Amino acid sequence: MDHLPIFLDVKGKKVLVDGGNTPAARRVERALSAGAIVHVFCPNMSDEFRTLREHPRVVHHLRAPEPADFEDCVVAYGASEIGARDQRLYEMAKAAKVLVNVADVTKYCDFITPSVVDRSPLVVAISSGGNAPVIARILRARIEVMLPAAYGRLAAFVGGFRETVMAKLTTTESRRRFWENTIEGQVGDHFLAGDETKASARLLEDLDAAVTGAKSAQIGEVFLVGAGPGDPDLLTFRALHIMQRADVVLFDRLVSDEIMTLVRRDAERVYVGKAPQQHAMVQEEISELMVELAQQGKRVLRLKGGDPFIFGRGGEELELLAKHKIPFQVIPGITAASGCASYAGIPLTHRDHAQSCVLITAHGREGILDLDWERLVRPDQTVVVYMGLGSVGILSEQFIKRGLDRTTPAAVVDNGTRTSQRVVTGDLGNIADRVVESGIKGPALIIIGSVVSLRDELKWFADSDKDSHQMSLQAKDSL
Ligand code: SAH
Repeated sequence: MDHLPIFLDVKGKKVLVDGGNTPAARRVERALSAGAIVHVFCPNMSDEFRTLREHPRVVHHLRAPEPADFEDCVVAYGASEIGARDQRLYEMAKAAKVLVNVADVTKYCDFITPSVVDRSPLVVAISSGGNAPVIARILRARIEVMLPAAYGRLAAFVGGFRETVMAKLTTTESRRRFWENTIEGQVGDHFLAGDETKASARLLEDLDAAVTGAKSAQIGEVFLVGAGPGDPDLLTFRALHIMQRADVVLFDRLVSDEIMTLVRRDAERVYVGKAPQQHAMVQEEISELMVELAQQGKRVLRLKGGDPFIFGRGGEELELLAKHKIPFQVIPGITAASGCASYAGIPLTHRDHAQSCVLITAHGREGILDLDWERLVRPDQTVVVYMGLGSVGILSEQFIKRGLDRTTPAAVVDNGTRTSQRVVTGDLGNIADRVVESGIKGPALIIIGSVVSLRDELKWFADSDKDSHQMSLQAKDSL
């Protein structure tokens, strides 16, 4: 290690910042957030100081710093961006034995400023030893993603019980184990889900159990998580956090392999199928399995394609859990309509085309087309059909029969948002044939409405090669 990592207490102490531009503003900000009294030296504070200028702990001096300014000062930052002035600052700081850092001038630095992830009281500081600040910043961005915003509050919450735990659990080992279980377990879950009362009660219960050596009757929890339409980058932070902490994961066909690689490696995996007409497990069995696993104390991840509450039977799966009083949480995902439309360059609403958008499925409980046609054939409306690939012919026929023009644009997005995405476009009159010609297999979404015509202009995502190949074959065929 080239540097000694320390966190310095500067609360109520004097920090000097020389400069009035962006680098100075960043240093003032950080010193203020650590509670320092910050003396800023510059004739003009730039716009970056907009909110800092009036801060009660900022003292503004129009002149350059002088030796007397270093008295009682703990840290001095040079950020004037003027070589001679920086050098002078460094010399004065050295003479006064004050820690000094001049922005971007290594030889004038006693210390380096790390990249920081602030979840106060939890703070992560990253340094590349001055070799590659960009790597430190990239790493910082990754850690930002990993640490839920509420982690800071969790640290403060846990801190509030430190003494109680210290008094009851006397060995370091027992305390370490207790805290690991607490933070990674249900106490942490309750807290991060916003229920501090439950978190406190559970923590005290667990503490009693740890003291008496009794195993608390741990009941697990189920997380119903939307995994989005396929592109792993479309997962939410929360989905990712839960995926990395699951004991067991129940997943189905719609969850892409790339997403499955993000689930904690040690988690047990249960495939619960659900290809059309060949359910590996029927709905009731899935729900029963979740109840059973949660009753064993497991943290159960039920991972679903898209959003669990949009044609995902999420509600049905939760009913049994609710009946058995198994705690659960629902994490939304990007639904196929949203994902496919964006990646196909088809806005679902547009002031010139559609003022409403209806999501329907052509695959009801009974598997028959039993739709409210009057509501579906309105003008200025986009209709999105889930699970409709097999019935695209009968659907488009019905749309025409019930009143939509056969030239109404329509698109079928296959494997939307994935690298294998293919989009077939046409109109109600020809879309079924085009789908057959393309040979697409699904999962696929049908979009009907004049918004589809915007794709020519708004297409941005490169569809799979297969698509263009198919298109060129089609073009040849039609010659
Ligand atoms: N809960 C899911 C939908 C499950 S129903 C969601 O919110 O997206 C399954 C149907 O979703 C499929 O038949 C298909 O119509 C659609 N679908 C899901 N993922 C898709 C994808 N990547 N591309 C196209 N359609 C998709």
